[in-house]
Amino acid sequence: MPTIQCLDPHIADLIAAGEVVERPASVAKELLENALDAGASAISVEVQHGGLTYLRITDNGCGIAPGQLPTAFLRHATSKLRRAEDLAAIGTLGFRGEALAAIAAVSRVDIFSRERGADRGASLHLEGGVPGEVTETGCPEGTTICVRDLFFNTPARMKFMKKDSAEGTAVTGVVTHLALSHPEVSVKLIRDGVEVLHTPGDGQLRSAVYAALGRDFALGLLPVSGCGGDISVEGFVTKPLNGGGTRARQLFFVNGRFVRSQLLTAALEEAYRNRLLKGKFPGCVLHITLPKSTVDVNVHPAKTVVKFQNERAVFDAVHYTVKDLLTAGETPAPKPVQQ
Ligand code: ADP
Ligand code: MG
Repeated sequence: MPTIQCLDPHIADLIAAGEVVERPASVAKELLENALDAGASAISVEVQHGGLTYLRITDNGCGIAPGQLPTAFLRHATSKLRRAEDLAAIGTLGFRGEALAAIAAVSRVDIFSRERGADRGASLHLEGGVPGEVTETGCPEGTTICVRDLFFNTPARMKFMKKDSAEGTAVTGVVTHLALSHPEVSVKLIRDGVEVLHTPGDGQLRSAVYAALGRDFALGLLPVSGCGGDISVEGFVTKPLNGGGTRARQLFFVNGRFVRSQLLTAALEEAYRNRLLKGKFPGCVLHITLPKSTVDVNVHPAKTVVKFQNERAVFDAVHYTVKDLLTAGETPAPKPVQQ
């Protein structure tokens, strides 16, 4: 009989890390979410070689107390969830307490953090998840996390990485989604020394769209605003006149979180039925807001999948809000002449 025994915690960490940290873009996503959860109003991201050799995120959020720095990197250590009941209504982007542990397990990390109002900050270096000493350091309020040499100790995962440019594009995608999900936060991305995105953080979705997706896309949009019951739908959709584009620019945000959802895609496309050229699709940047307790975000560790309690209501809210807008913009068909 083979002996059954518990995995060495280090191996368990590496396995768990593989689920959360798939590629540089997943590191960027987790760290950006932490920055938002920390209440940052400005976040800057810098990557080199698609984020594989270097990925640094700086925020001006609440910071972490020096004594808590090592704790933040423990698995299942979080400040965002206390009781099982809290799972029913998650108000933060993170809650699993896994990201920092997972990232640190497969890279070399330096963290610098200073709590708001504190005199000094502290730093900590971790190598493959193993922490060094916490050192008092002068640094601005907020947190900077620098992740180097991702997957240096997991060559099997390293082999799956695409070219730097493809990994960098995926990072850009994640930063773009975050910038559009929170127009009140100024988000900056520097790729190999070049600034590729910088949103003003003025709270206007239109300015974030303009800065993140470009002038041409922004000018071809119609503002949408509507609701169905307690589900509100706000944002922009592409003008049907433009004939349509690819599905790549269908961006949905549910309660401030970027999501991929066939249900939402179908609701949008159904509203454009017979209004676009064959094989073309509408684009959108739509924020859907609904009571927290009616959405489950705990479906997948990467959290881009959501489950709605009432799918029909969500479908209808999006579908009719968009459809009514498109119909209102069209000249009514001439009435048949009465005999
Ligand atoms: P989670 O976000 O699910 O709580 P993480 O592993 O991502 O788990 O982070 C662990 C904890 O570290 C967080 O709960 C938070 O208290 C702290 N933390 C992480 N990043 C930051 C940050 N940028 N600013 C302030 N605190 C942070
Ligand atoms: Mg987190």
